[in-house]
Amino acid sequence: MARAIFDEERCKGCRLCTTVCPGKIVEMKTDRLNGKGFHPAGVTDMEKCIGCAFCAAICPDCAIVVEK
Ligand code: SF4
Ligand code: SF4
Repeated sequence: MARAIFDEERCKGCRLCTTVCPGKIVEMKTDRLNGKGFHPAGVTDMEKCIGCAFCAAICPDCAIVVEK
């Protein structure tokens, strides 16, 4: 099963990754803040991740790693 792993402390909350996921499973975690004071991005339903790595490719802060 593919997995997208988000380093929440690197995230600056730009939301770019939420715009490219074909499964629409990347969302901002508005219930918490990281150390920089941003709501971090994350995956809502990892079972739907197809491992395309679009999210990792678009992240300007290299905060996402995708495993297949
Ligand atoms: S790897 Fe693809 S399917 Fe999985 S969370 Fe990232 S953009 Fe979505
Ligand atoms: S693209 Fe990167 S920095 Fe921007 S919200 Fe997503 S994980 Fe955070």
